[in-house]
Order: sequence, then structure tokens, then C-alpha cells
Amino acid sequence: MANRANVRDLPHVVIIGGGFGGLYAARALKRAPVRLTLIDRRNHHLFQPLLYEVATAALDASDIAYPIRAVLRRQHNARVILATVTAIDTQGKKVILADGDIFYDYLIVATGATHSYFGHDDWAQHAPGLKSIEDALEIRRRVLLAYEAAEREPDPERRRAWLTFVVVGGGPTGVELAGALAEIARYAMAKDFRTIDPTQARIILLEGGERVLPSYVPTLSAKAQALLESLGVEVHTKTMVTAVDEYGVGMGDAYIVTRTVLWAAGVAASPLARSLGAPLDRAGRVKVQDDLTIPGHAEVFVVGDLAAAMSNGKPVPGVAPAAIQGGRHAAHCIRRALADQPYTPFHYRDKGSLATIGRAAAVADFGWLKLSGFLAWLAWMSVHLFFLVGFRNRVLVMLSWVWSYMTFQRGARLITGDPGQLLARPQTPLAQARDDTATASVPSPHDSHAHEATHRQA
Ligand SMILES: Cc1cc2nc3c(=O)[nH]c(=O)nc-3n(C[C@H](O)[C@H](O)[C@H](O)COP(=O)(O)OP(=O)(O)OC[C@H]3O[C@@H](n4cnc5c(N)ncnc54)[C@H](O)[C@@H]3O)c2cc1C
Repeated sequence: MANRANVRDLPHVVIIGGGFGGLYAARALKRAPVRLTLIDRRNHHLFQPLLYEVATAALDASDIAYPIRAVLRRQHNARVILATVTAIDTQGKKVILADGDIFYDYLIVATGATHSYFGHDDWAQHAPGLKSIEDALEIRRRVLLAYEAAEREPDPERRRAWLTFVVVGGGPTGVELAGALAEIARYAMAKDFRTIDPTQARIILLEGGERVLPSYVPTLSAKAQALLESLGVEVHTKTMVTAVDEYGVGMGDAYIVTRTVLWAAGVAASPLARSLGAPLDRAGRVKVQDDLTIPGHAEVFVVGDLAAAMSNGKPVPGVAPAAIQGGRHAAHCIRRALADQPYTPFHYRDKGSLATIGRAAAVADFGWLKLSGFLAWLAWMSVHLFFLVGFRNRVLVMLSWVWSYMTFQRGARLITGDPGQLLARPQTPLAQARDDTATASVPSPHDSHAHEATHRQA
């Protein structure tokens, strides 16, 4: 066994980020002759694909997060540091923390992505995005509070605003959020109120492109839209959002009055990318070489959502399997370098895409097999349970799903924090608010002019 002096002589691998990319890179270096330091600003690895279930009260936050320190407990060559990296000095081969520097021989940067409001950062306060546990709890708070506020609201127009939920962005996150919101309205909340009828809540999904789930084949996009509509979700495609304020969402001439807007529309790379001095793409992601290193620095790898990588001539998507494979690839290259062998290029293996839509339905595209409905949902559940970190979490999530499926209920309907702040937002008469901001409202499909309004937006 290596003594302490020998251990200090081993090459030092520093990994920034304990998400999918960083954590799988660390695990893949378990038996490598290296000292490894994993730095994350959070103490937990977060399973982001199930965040929307926390945001919609189906799961507890702790069901989908796991302490990074516990994951690497038995990996004796690894230590974990809770800290925020503020910059990277590639010339000096060090990462810079608020309270000191850490030198590396090899660096793996896996700090992921964050929300993008396409230059309208002021929209963030009215339309929270979904990226962290805090985001999910804030969304859960807003959604549950909206029903409570509606129950106490005597004015019908204001009540309608509280019972209107708008999701911006028709990618997997937006589709999953909209489906879950519809399910809450239809089932979980249906019998719990005395003044309002939660089943009358409007759930509206706005997508700027031609179809929801644009990265899927058109037939599955159409299936997903049909499944959403069967749950009562109003889907508006080719609809660009041009304003978000405390009264609602504007889309050119059209305006939806709502108190709850959720943002699932855009991502931007972690700002740390800029300090690498490497070329970036328009979303701020690092344009990596074919082995995932940056130009001029064979010792610096960038993986996961932060990397603009190409594989077999195609861009690698920002999904968990790509981050996992990228992290493992970086570890593989480091092991080869230690054995005096050259790096190999990264090849992404696309194992398929899955998105769930409300209760017991999903769409799945495995390339050779395309599924929708209940079978796709079973596939979705199995894949998510398989990749969830922590045995306890797998068991709890599975039990929660079984319970929800059998009872139609959601087990984490807690409003946390002070409700006052959200409920006490300015109470300008809605008619005046609309006059000030936009002109035409988007009616519900029950209104006679629904087609006209949709046509106007398109
Ligand atoms: C709501 C949502 C749903 C999703 N659903 C799916 C899905 O169904 N299927 C799928 O395949 N993918 C899905 N994704 C995408 C998937 O989660 C990402 O592709 C994946 O998490 C990327 O992994 P990563 O390691 O690059 O980054 P992340 O998993 O985001 O990890 C980045 C880590 O870096 C840390 N960090 C960031 N900055 C710093 C810093 N300056 N200093 C220290 N630490 C830092 C963060 O705390 C975090 O732990 C979803 C994403 C979201 C947000």
C-alpha cells in the first residue's frame, strides 16, 4: 500500500462538478494511480431528470439528491471539497476558489449549464426555471400557493389568473412539467377545495418551434402533443414569448393573464467556461477537440453540458448519458496517458430519449424502437430508477410512484417559506395591467374565438 509520501507524488486529478459528468469521471478513476479531488459548490449530486417531480410535489427533494461525499466514501483515492470555483488558470495549472488555489496535473471541468432568458434576465423573477433543488421548491411553492390564493379570491378574473399556469418551452422539461401540472389539477387537487374547482385550471404550454419535443421524430412529437391535450393542456406551437411580467406572458399582440409562469425554454453554459480561454459556441459552451480536451491543453478536459462536442459529425446532445459517457472518456484518456498511450477520440452512443407525460404515459425513442403510452412509461420508470444514485433513493422513488399511481395523489404537497411575499404582489386591476402591457388575450379552447387567437400568434 502507498504511504503518505508516495501518495503525494501521484498525479493530481481535479474534477470540478459532481453532476453526471464529474461523478462518473471520478468513479472511473477509482483504481487509477492518481490523487483525485472533486470540487462542487453543492454537497449533493442531483438527479435533474426527476426535478420536475419535486417541483410538482410528487417526490421529496432528498429522494433525488445524494451526498457526493457518501457516493465516494469507499473510493480511497478521492477527496471531496465543498467550494465554488471562481476561475481556472490554465497557464498556472490551478483552479481558483474564493479562499485559495488548488493545483492540478489533469483537470476535468463538468460544471453543466444554467437557465437562459435570452437576454431578458428580468423575466427570471416572474418565471422561475428548473435546474436546482431550490428552483424545484420555489416552483412547488408557487404552484400550490396559486390554488390557495384562488380559493380565497372573490374576484372571478383574478381567480382565473391564479388558476392559469403557463409553461414556456416545449422540450422534455416543459412537456413533463405541463403534464404533471395537468395531473395535479385533474386528480391530486380535485376534491380538496370548497370554493374553486381545480379541474377548471388552465395549463398552457408555449413552444416557439413547429412542434413540442423538437429533438424527437415528428410522429412522437405529435403523440406527445396529443397526450398533453388529452390531459387538458393547451399547446401553442410557433409561439414566441416576447414579454413576461407580474401579470402574465406576452406573445407579440397576444397576452395571457396568469400568476404562475414556469420557464423551460433555454440553457446557457456555466460561466466558468469563459475563464478557460478556449473557443466558445453561442450558448457559451466550450468547443472541445475530438478527445474532449481544449486546444493547447491536453491536460484539460471539458465534459457534459458545458462541452460543445461533436461525435460522428453530429453535435453531442446536452443529456445525462452524454455527460456520463464524456466523464468516463476523460477518465479513460487520463489512464492511457499515465500508461504512456495516446488519447482516443470520444464517440457518443445514443441510447435513446424518453419523456413522460402526466400519469402513466410517455414517449420513448430508442432509434430501432419507438414507443408511446403505458409501455413507454414503464421504460421511462426503469431507466430513471437504474440511473438514480443511492439504493435508498431508488426504493423511496419507486414506492412514491406506486403510491401515486394507486391513489392519484402527490406525497409532497408542502408550501415552504413565507407565502406572504408571493401573495402580496401588486394588485393593479387586471384590466389596467393588460392595457398597459399588451392587447389581445389568449382565450381558453372553450371560448368561441380560440382558433382566431391561435392563428394570430402563428
Ligand atoms: C429539469 C431537467 C430535466 C432533465 N431531464 C433529462 C432527462 O430526462 N434525460 C436526460 O438525459 N437528461 C436530462 N436533463 C439534462 C441532464 O440533467 C444534464 O445533461 C446533465 O445533468 C449534465 O451533466 P453535467 O455533469 O454536465 O452537469 P450537472 O449535472 O448540471 O452538474 C454540474 C455540477 O457542477 C457544479 N458546479 C457548477 N458550477 C460550479 C462552480 N463554479 N464551482 C463548483 N461546482 C460547480 C454544480 O453544483 C453541479 O453539481 C435534464 C436537465 C434538467 C435541468
